[in-house]
Formats: sequence, structure tokens, C-alpha cells
Amino acid sequence: MTIHYFSVDVEEYFQVSAFEGSVPRTSWDHLPSRVEASVYGILDLLARHGARGTFFTLGWVAERHPQMIKRIAEAGHEVASHGWDHVRVTHQTPEEFRASVKRSKACLEELTGTQVLGFRAPSFSIVPGREWALDLLIEEGYRYDSSLFPIRRPGGYGYASAGRDPFVLERAAGKLDEFPPATLRRFGVNLPAGGGAYFRILPYALVQRAFRSFEARGVPGTFYMHPWEIDPDQPRQQAKLSSRLRHYTGLSRTLPRLERLLSEFRFTAIADRFTRTASLAAS
Ligand SMILES: [Zn+2]
Repeated sequence: MTIHYFSVDVEEYFQVSAFEGSVPRTSWDHLPSRVEASVYGILDLLARHGARGTFFTLGWVAERHPQMIKRIAEAGHEVASHGWDHVRVTHQTPEEFRASVKRSKACLEELTGTQVLGFRAPSFSIVPGREWALDLLIEEGYRYDSSLFPIRRPGGYGYASAGRDPFVLERAAGKLDEFPPATLRRFGVNLPAGGGAYFRILPYALVQRAFRSFEARGVPGTFYMHPWEIDPDQPRQQAKLSSRLRHYTGLSRTLPRLERLLSEFRFTAIADRFTRTASLAAS
């Protein structure tokens, strides 16, 4: 039986790229935090379904909610990095990227006592031309990445030429395992079917078909979500209409659909792919 990967990008509702232009970073510390309640809801959900997951966490969030990070790890889940403060790789110099992945990794390892193996870029922003980020991840001790979204999306993210199934990237700096978010191949194109807004807005059957087709190939698919997606009561932000539609549509659908997904498919953490020698305490 194929066991898929469940992942959560741990961030606040106001830190998403869609609100970058309207919610300044300087306001973050003054906005009400809602991440803990949602993360604990996700922990309950996974526990009820006997599933494990990977929590790609912002260093900024971990620093302010250390007990939450410890609870995620104590519940048997994997804690990995989502960078420090959600700056997209397309908006960073290599030096800024290195500092972000180094600092977040150190912070998360300090809290969990376990080596951080994985990274997911904010908004899947390792796009063509930004491959240097993959080399820097290897240099900073990461074992895998989950940032290459093999879709074509005008003006946004996407690495259309990347593989759809987990694969190994051979880089000048070494090797890096890649776990792309799940897509469904239809009519010669890759349709996004791995989570996020697509999971809330598109028919559930699309996601179901995608994970079934992974199973038919005997390959795990990678699902992703955000804590704010199960929080329909989050404070509303001012932003352009397209950003608001993408962020707020279908929030009340997320939980029932997650229940269904977790009862129809089995999920674990991406770290399971690697040998269990990652405990810092044991080394
Ligand atoms: Zn994010």
C-alpha cells in the first residue's frame, strides 16, 4: 500500500504572499496570533486518523511559539523549515536566502533536539533561474526540498519542467531529494492537485484522482495545507480581490475534506523516507 506525505506550512494568516503588499512585516507583532489553535486542531485530526506529517515552519513563528513546536515534535511529527519570515526566494539574494535557511534550521533544531532535514520555500518560490537555492540548501545541511511545483502558472510560482514524482536532484554541491506537491496529469498538462487553495476551491474528486493515480504508479504523493485554512473566523485583511478570493474561498470546506482525504488515504512524514539517524541527541 502506498503511503503518501502530509505536510503543513506553519505560518500566520497574515504572513501569506497574497497579503505581502497590504500587511507590512512591521505590523506582524501587533496582529492577533491564531496559529496555535489551528495547529493543535491539525494535530488532533492527524492523531484521530493515525497519520503523521511534516510541519514546514517559519523561524519567526517558532521563536514566538516554542511550546507549539515541541508539541508537534512530541506528537511524532517531523519539524522542517519554511524559511525565517516568508520572504520568497524570488525576492532574496543568495546571501539572504542562506541566512534564512541557516537561522530557521538552527532555531527549529534547538527546540526539537532533532536534525532538520527538509525545506519548503514560501509560495514554492524556487523557480527557473533560482536553482542556486538548491545548492545552498545542500551546503547548509538539508537533505531534501519540497519547493519545485511542476505546474505552469503565469506570473506566479511553478517549475514546469520538474518531475511530478519524488526524485533526486544532482547538483554541483551534491544531492538533494525533491518532493514536489502532487499534480494530476490530464490532457498533456499538470494540474495542481496537492492542496492549498486548489484543495478548497476545485472539486474534491480532482485531489482524490491525483492520489489514486500516484497509488497506481506505486509512488507517494505530497499533500500540503496551511493552519489558517481551517480557520474561517480569522480577521479579514484588506487586499486586492483576486488575493482575497484565493485566501478566503472555501475555508469552511477544508476540515470536512481533510477528514475525507485522511480516511481514504494513508499519510506519513517525508522524513520517513530517510534512515532514522537524524536524532541530534543520539549523535
Ligand atoms: Zn507559506
